[in-house]
Formats: sequence, structure tokens, C-alpha cells
Amino acid sequence: MRSKQLLFICEWLLWCSLRCNGRPDPRQREALMETEMLRQTGGHVVLSAQEKLLDEKLHQMKLQDMAAPTFPPAVHFFKARSLIERSPVFSLLQKMPKGAALHVHDFGMVGVDWLVNNVTYRENCYVCFTHDYSVRFVFSAGQPELQPRCSEWVLLKTLRQKLNRTELDNSFVRNLTLFTEDPDKAYPNQDVVWKRFEEAFFVAFGLVTYAPVFKDYLYEGLRQFYMDNVLYVEIRALLPLTYELDARRNSKDWSLRACREVVQRFKAHYPEFIGARIIFTVHRGLNLTEAMKAVEEAMTLKKNFPDIMAGFDFVGREDSGQPLWYFREALTLPEVKGTHLPYFFHAGETDSEGTEVDQNVMDALLLNTSRIGHGFAMVRHPVVKELARKMDVPVEVCPISNQVLRLVSDLRNHPGAVLMAEGHPMVISSDDPALFGAVGLSYDFYQVFMGLGGLKSNLATLKELVLNSIRYSSLSSTMKKNTTAALLVKWDKFVSDTLLY
Ligand SMILES: [Zn+2]
Repeated sequence: MRSKQLLFICEWLLWCSLRCNGRPDPRQREALMETEMLRQTGGHVVLSAQEKLLDEKLHQMKLQDMAAPTFPPAVHFFKARSLIERSPVFSLLQKMPKGAALHVHDFGMVGVDWLVNNVTYRENCYVCFTHDYSVRFVFSAGQPELQPRCSEWVLLKTLRQKLNRTELDNSFVRNLTLFTEDPDKAYPNQDVVWKRFEEAFFVAFGLVTYAPVFKDYLYEGLRQFYMDNVLYVEIRALLPLTYELDARRNSKDWSLRACREVVQRFKAHYPEFIGARIIFTVHRGLNLTEAMKAVEEAMTLKKNFPDIMAGFDFVGREDSGQPLWYFREALTLPEVKGTHLPYFFHAGETDSEGTEVDQNVMDALLLNTSRIGHGFAMVRHPVVKELARKMDVPVEVCPISNQVLRLVSDLRNHPGAVLMAEGHPMVISSDDPALFGAVGLSYDFYQVFMGLGGLKSNLATLKELVLNSIRYSSLSSTMKKNTTAALLVKWDKFVSDTLLY
């Protein structure tokens, strides 16, 4: 209401200044600036006296970071990471309660050091080396069967006795992550970086689908997010069939039961943690028949595991896969059958303007998505943007992922900056932090707060983003209410604790 009144005053002042004397009016300028501030993310959040003090402190810290010779959001994250880690703004953001991570993938959650130093050191771990200088792993009670285009399987324990252990482990780390000293040289375009990105998942696959590791990985993933002050996680999960030491395969039901058991165990150890839910995903390279089967499977899983199953999505590079519209017959199946399957579509993770894939942001809404993953293309679709706003469908902004996968170089130019300035509904997430050399959510919050928001974003912006993460989650309305109340208690403690130092 206040912004409408202000806008009216501004328009009147503008008319008056132009009509009366032809000179710009400072009052009009001030009123326009205030109107813009009101419109941005957090613009309507009223800060307490303590929060205002912290906001001022934060502003000073931000100015210091911006005065440094290299501004981290302006350079590639692989070069910016060490600078970010030295920033006082970053350490404050690490301590900040961040609510929920709503866009993370099952095998991109845990830092790869854990996979190498913990998982590959377990008994019965075999490795083979592919013809294109990559690796595959498998756990097996006996010698595993040969795999196409890979060397003979070697027991890793034996190999470590013969080779330099540090060099070997470092080579595994390199295969499991995209992190490199010179990203521009290593990944000159989107095709190259996506190929490496997908290859890294294949490397991890044999490790993370071994049934005992599957459970431990999820537990460690929740731990790393919780240590980064995240209370709740929604995980896009492929739910591949896990295997036992004797090569026996477990069902998808086993995977969901395992997720439920791990989340319960984690909550017993960390009672403040709210929980985790699964968004079942399939690759967008499927044909329509396969997609129909996948949607039916998702409906069954949702019916059998309503507590832990949140909904359905497609994964994989949008530019290479089928557009959402291609799957419309499959995606309307739940409605035809009279059941509800919430959708959380990746859409608009592209810069191919005007293509079928670019339409995904519109089609996601037409197919009644609950959130839009990335929505990088959203700003080029004003009608879709308005519709999303009316439907209160947020975008899940994952800035580091978009930069590493080469949609944007300087994060000050990320389209999310425009959406923030307009107060478009959004949450911040990290997509696959493990592959980018990040942890939890703090690095992405830093990039949003410093790069996308610039000097205009403030503590109110952060507070709205944090509260949005619960508001737009798939939790029940009662759970949202309780979690928001608990989060605000943590928030106030964070504010008062931070002011003490
Ligand atoms: Zn994603």
C-alpha cells in the first residue's frame, strides 16, 4: 500500500518538476529511490533496532570486500573461492541460519574429499581406468566383471601399496569434481563443461550406489548442510538401484526406506534439524513412453512414501534433452488418474533464447510446477514472469552453478539480479556444491548478497530469502508455521550474538 502511495507521489513530483521548472527535483529523486528499495527482495521487511545495527555493520563489511582489488563475484568461482573464504561477510553468512536448501542433487551434496578419504578406503573397493583417462569404482566380494572401455578391475587396497597414495587420491579428486586452477582453459564452452560435469557423476556412481555408502552419503550430506546452518533439505534424487557386495540389486522402495531411516537417525542426533524430502528425478533424455512409466512410478512412490516423497522433476542439460512440452502427455497423467504429484521443474537453465527449451519456463507454469529450478531465462519472458508472480511460484537461484556451467561469467550480470530488484519470489540454493568445490549454501548466499544484490541488498534481503526457503518448501502448512517460528528464534540469536563481536 505504502509503495503505491509513494509511486503516486513520485509521479506527481515528476510531473510537477518537468512542468514547473524543467529541473530535476531532489525530493522526487529520493522518493523514486525509496520506491525502488521497497520493491526489491526484503523491501517490505521491517528490521528491529538490533537488526538495524547489524545491518549497518554488514554494510561496512560489504564496502570493505568491494574495495578489495578483486571482487569475488566478478571472477570465476574457482578463482574466487579462496577470496570468499577470507571475507568477514562470508563468515557471517556461514553463521546465519539459512532455513532450507531446496535445490540440491543427491550425488552433488558431499565434498569429494569425503568420498576419496572415507569411501574409497573401505574394504572391497575396486577401480578401473577408462580409455579417456577417467575412472570407475565398484565394491565387490570377488573380482568384478570387465567393463567396456575400461582396464581390468584392481583392488584399490593393493594398488595403493604399489603407487604413490597421495598422487592417486588427488587424481580421484580431480575426476570427481570440476574444480581446476584455470577453468577458462579447461572449460572453454558449455558443451565441454557439461561433458565433464556428467562424467564426474559417472565416476561417483559406483561409490554412491553401493548400499551402505548410499546411506552414509546421505547422512554426511545432511551433516554438511546442517553444519552450514541449514535446517531442512529437499533433494532431487535419481534413486538409482543400489547394490550389495554380492551384486544383488535393491529396489527404489529400498532407497526411499533408506532415506527415511537416515533422516530419522540424523534427526535423533541433531534434534533441531527439521528433515529432508525427496524429489524423484529422471533424465530428460527419456522418450515419451519411458517418461509415462517414470511418472507412474513417481505416483506410486508418492502414494507409498507420502512423508518423504515431495514430487517429481527432470534432470540433465536442458539444451540437450527434450523440452517439457514434449512430456506433456506423461505429466498430465496424475490429473487424469485423479492423484496429485507436485512438480519442481528445472526450467530456463539456458541462454538459447527463442528455442523450444527456452519455452520451458512457460511450460513449467502451464504444467503447474511448484517452483522453477534456475529460471535463468525468466527475465526474457515478461509475461511468464508476471504469471509466476501471480501464481507465487518462486525461482530457485543457484548462481555458482550457473557460472561454473558457463551461463554467466560475472555474477553481477546474473539475471537473478533483476529479479531481486523487482522482488520476484525466489530462494537461493547450491545445486551440486560438491562438484563446484563449495559446501552447503553459504558460498551461494555470498554471491547473491554481494554480486547479484550489490550495495542495495541488506539484512532485510537476507531475512526474506531465508524465510522464503521455508515458505516455498513442500512442508505442510503446520510444519511451515512451526519451522518459521523456530527459525526466527535462531535468527534473533544470530543477530544478538553477531553484535557482541
Ligand atoms: Zn539442478
